[in-house]
Amino acid sequence: MEISGQQYEPVIGLEVHVQLNTKSKIFCEDPVKYGADPNTLVSPVSLAHPGTLPVVNRAVLGKAVKLGMALDCKIAKRMYFDRKNYFYPDSPKGYQLTQDRTPICKGGGVNIKTESGDKFVSLDKIHMEEDAGKSIHVEGEDFSKIDLNRAGTPLLEVVTDPCMATPAEVALFLNYLRRLVRWLDISDANMEEGSLRCDANVSIKPIGSEKLGNKVEIKNMNSVRNVQKAINAELKRQAELVRSGETIISETRLYDLEKNQTRSMRTKEALNDYRYFPDPDLSEIELSQDFLNEIKTAMPELPEQREQRFINDFGIEQEKARIICEEISQAEFFESLLKAGTEPKVASNWFVGPVKGFINQNTEIKLENINPKALSSLIELSTSGKVNQHIAVRELLPGVIVNGDMPEKLAAEKGLLIESNKNELLDWVDEAISQNPEKVKAWKNGKKGLSKFFMGEVMKKSKGKADPRQTISLIEEQLKNQ
Ligand code: ADP
Ligand code: MG
Repeated sequence: MEISGQQYEPVIGLEVHVQLNTKSKIFCEDPVKYGADPNTLVSPVSLAHPGTLPVVNRAVLGKAVKLGMALDCKIAKRMYFDRKNYFYPDSPKGYQLTQDRTPICKGGGVNIKTESGDKFVSLDKIHMEEDAGKSIHVEGEDFSKIDLNRAGTPLLEVVTDPCMATPAEVALFLNYLRRLVRWLDISDANMEEGSLRCDANVSIKPIGSEKLGNKVEIKNMNSVRNVQKAINAELKRQAELVRSGETIISETRLYDLEKNQTRSMRTKEALNDYRYFPDPDLSEIELSQDFLNEIKTAMPELPEQREQRFINDFGIEQEKARIICEEISQAEFFESLLKAGTEPKVASNWFVGPVKGFINQNTEIKLENINPKALSSLIELSTSGKVNQHIAVRELLPGVIVNGDMPEKLAAEKGLLIESNKNELLDWVDEAISQNPEKVKAWKNGKKGLSKFFMGEVMKKSKGKADPRQTISLIEEQLKNQ
């Protein structure tokens, strides 16, 4: 962007909090659950009663390592937790347990595919920490309520380098990360529920300049789209400041969606000195080679690789492969369809089309519960011409998906198998012809398009069971005989 005759470029770095989907909290056995009644998931450890001691949840270490491996990070062998000291009403300990000096993962990154080619987003680090509780501000009251259910929920903080240059790159990275953590079964990564939270650090600098500008950290965005909007609004504000000769101060700002503006929350200068020091209640953690190997061995094929394999090995269209590989359960189900004998391209059409369509409308259905053999035979019934495709989708697919019905039987019961019985078909055709003498005349006078009308009539009479190819040739044959 040009400001007063000089070209500037944005510099953006992200801090993304990923809430882990472990069964219990990071330092005690309280369950991790969203939406429970306030203060029902709180033992003395979550409440920080004096004398209680934290114990590290092994599952948190496993999930952190898993993400680090998937993002090509260097995994620390030894590490500890630090106390970050500050007072906040929803953090009963008066400090947060986090990792300052010895993050579990360092470096790494990921290639994202932008419109102008591949772009490497490099990571600074990933560290583990505990979440705070929630303050609930009651409208019109002069007090706030505190819910400590969330206190002690495990988080990973993924910190990128200041390496992104556009909101579009930020969106691609966030979408990549969200799909990855879901794929690895690390987090639900739901931005609206707060299980994925993103702070964006934004600055601008003259193009080519080595020195980075002062950064502003933006908080309070609950969707990828809003992150993009917030960054755009902030870039505009910073450009205005530079244009009018003012300096940009390092501060934290909140995004106000309604005004589409950021507003100051606190300046960095006034920030606490957190007095980090290693937590004396927790001993140092050492990750054994066995532990690391176990995680590596159990690592699933990553989404990008799987997508590429579907394209290369099965000849699936890129867009369809992308849709199928949005979730690991979809990719798994798709492959189980192929194992059940469905041809890959046909399977991809059915999956992306009618199957996904039905599931989107019936969100209680889990893909894992669908019988791939039943679906595969339904597809076979349709492609072999035994059941009309529309009818297969409308009349049979729900039963196959919801109840695991075997489609052949269901089709027979419902009388939906296409009739190859020529006599019955002939009866319907003749009936259609004798009931519409005007149309027959018009057809004879050259309005050949009317064949379609007769086709429709026969389909109605047969309730969709007539074989279309056979029907159309029979109609034309009979019309010629009139
Ligand atoms: P701090 O010392 O304020 O914690 P860090 O260097 O640890 O800053 O970086 C925190 C986040 O800010 C990272 O995501 C990083 O990429 C980003 N960042 C750092 N400097 C800048 C900058 N000048 N412009 C934009 N983002 C930046
Ligand atoms: Mg920092």
